[in-house]
Amino acid sequence: MTALTTKTAQSLHDKRCEQMRAKGFHGPLEVCSYPEDQCIESYAGTQQLRWVHCIKFCPSLIPWPDLPESRRQEYLVTAKAVLPEIVGEVFGECLTICAEMNALESWAAIGNLRDRCLEELK
Ligand SMILES: [Zn+2]
Repeated sequence: MTALTTKTAQSLHDKRCEQMRAKGFHGPLEVCSYPEDQCIESYAGTQQLRWVHCIKFCPSLIPWPDLPESRRQEYLVTAKAVLPEIVGEVFGECLTICAEMNALESWAAIGNLRDRCLEELK
């Protein structure tokens, strides 16, 4: 597993958490803010005290290192599926741009390409 793949998988997870929180969801490490039906510890229906969660509770809204291995693997599979196309496209453009250039010109051109790619993703 490359560092780029792992980093991309983590970014996918972070982005998903961000989107879920924006929709009002919370994870086990956060205070429940759902007003109508808060997460509570209760004996309801059982002899043991247990958490009864609100409908805005999501167990996977936790930091990457705390995710179950199976969940991390799902993100890694997604990262591995999308990265070849992205990396291939960018390197292809680099080769085209740099074909007729010296080293200094290439550096500047690759820097411009990077900035343009990042701008497009905003
Ligand atoms: Zn809750």
